[in-house]
Amino acid sequence: MRILIVDLPDAAATLRAGSALAAALVGGMVVTLAGDLGAGKTTLVRGVLRARGVAGPIKSPTYALVEHYPLSSIYFYHIDFYRFNDPEEWETSGLPECFRNDSVCLIEWPQRVAGRLPPADVALTLAPAGDGRTLTARAASAAGERCVAAIDHAFPAATPAT
Ligand code: ADP
Ligand code: MG
Repeated sequence: MRILIVDLPDAAATLRAGSALAAALVGGMVVTLAGDLGAGKTTLVRGVLRARGVAGPIKSPTYALVEHYPLSSIYFYHIDFYRFNDPEEWETSGLPECFRNDSVCLIEWPQRVAGRLPPADVALTLAPAGDGRTLTARAASAAGERCVAAIDHAFPAATPAT
């Protein structure tokens, strides 16, 4: 499967990566965002949601667990599992209901519910690189491949790693 590595020198570049990804998201998709606190995960999700037309505030769901954005025919769920200590909480959280054909789920800290999440179409990882960040995007489905291609297209200098 395709792996793309992109240099994000500043927060504006992270927003731009989100915006590129947004154009390729369709109902039923799952996108995971890994990386430490402050890596830029929420910023990238903001880029997605702004590009899909969310005009109001886009809060980090660290405390609320999930923020939802009903956008025309698709629901966007921004989920953050940072505060999950036990993957068993997944069963009682109500969150399994977020995963539907008419929704897109954007998930921070997916490793906190490892083994329970439906498979991701695109797995994103953000890591510090000097003052900026490096984004690694892994596609795991045909729809995911289209997302990675869209990000690639928005960053012409990006290096294909495989
Ligand atoms: P996370 O959700 O991973 O904890 P945030 O998205 O809240 O991280 O971002 C943390 C900080 O990093 C914010 O101040 C944001 O503006 C900044 N940031 C995001 N992307 C970049 C980047 N590519 N280069 C430098 N700073 C960035
Ligand atoms: Mg966050």
